[in-house]
Amino acid sequence: MALITCPSCAAQTSDTAGTCTHCGNPVRAVAPIRQLSGKLALIGVVVIAVAVIGTALGTWWGPAALLPGIALFMMAKFL
Ligand SMILES: [Zn+2]
Repeated sequence: MALITCPSCAAQTSDTAGTCTHCGNPVRAVAPIRQLSGKLALIGVVVIAVAVIGTALGTWWGPAALLPGIALFMMAKFL
């Protein structure tokens, strides 16, 4: 059991409770992983967009950047 900060009322509550013991707001220990997943997906989309622009401009790094971008996006989906 670990204490986490409620995103609704900012009080310390147990991550095993499911809901905040102070305000009843649902709290989940997986929230930081979801945030990381969202950031990874966003970075992946940005890298893919840059890669597509790079490919359209005929740069050597355009096609090379496409694969890591797709890999980041897929990783985010599996988190
Ligand atoms: Zn709360």
